[in-house]
Amino acid sequence: MNIIAYSKALYTTWIYYSPERILFDAGEGVATLLNNKIYAIKHIFLTHGHVDHISGLWALINTRNNAMGDREKELNIYYPIGNKGIEEYLRFIKKMNSDLRFNLNVFPLKDGQIVYLREGNQPKYIKAFSVVHTYSEKSFGYHLYEVRKRLKKEFQSLSQKEIAELSRKYGSDYVSEKFEKKILTVSGDTYLLKKEDVFDTDILFHECTFFKKEDRKYKNHAVLEDIIDLIKDTKIKTLILYHISGRYGKRPERFLENFKEELKNINVHIVKPDKLFKL
Ligand SMILES: [Zn+2]
Ligand SMILES: [Zn+2]
Repeated sequence: MNIIAYSKALYTTWIYYSPERILFDAGEGVATLLNNKIYAIKHIFLTHGHVDHISGLWALINTRNNAMGDREKELNIYYPIGNKGIEEYLRFIKKMNSDLRFNLNVFPLKDGQIVYLREGNQPKYIKAFSVVHTYSEKSFGYHLYEVRKRLKKEFQSLSQKEIAELSRKYGSDYVSEKFEKKILTVSGDTYLLKKEDVFDTDILFHECTFFKKEDRKYKNHAVLEDIIDLIKDTKIKTLILYHISGRYGKRPERFLENFKEELKNINVHIVKPDKLFKL
């Protein structure tokens, strides 16, 4: 299990990605539901400052400081630069927890900024990207990238033995090249991501507040049929719909039945409101 998430539009949203110890957003209830896993979190990436995405931060930081666990591990929080609400809130949290036992580091991020999670042979990093949500503040989505190596095109027809020979003679960089692979994309709240944003990502978390177009009053949240259009020919392997409005009841998956054909080669999951999601 790599992913734990809880999300209900307007109420709370958070996604925990355990391989990199990342929490995306920190809505209400995150500390309660993650329980002692809160000590494993190393990075928190906030998509924007709406209450349903940040209100669990205080409890998380406070609990981590006081409960039984590894209280000395540092915690890094990232957010879209210039977000006054988040800055005020973090200032307040620091003031109320002046006895913090761990380093709480806060980093405002610019559009396109990269945060390295691990360096070395196969570096991994997060890249922030702007999304359309509200006009009053900047909102981000986040990509998780891994740098991988592949055989250069001109050597692909050679045998293993020949490749090994070349590699021995001229070094491995001669036969292989590095490329960036998108492993995970989290949309945050948005009207809709762009095709280039979602292209070739393994796992796409896309907000899907509405299943019916007529339910959307303003152009700030996504609708299922637009997401279906968006992911066409993008090589996505897994689509996870989250930030779903509570109005669709206990069986929101019924809305997917109209799109069986479009979704036949994709693993689709729904983070149901009121239910802890694990994958
Ligand atoms: Zn929201
Ligand atoms: Zn929002």
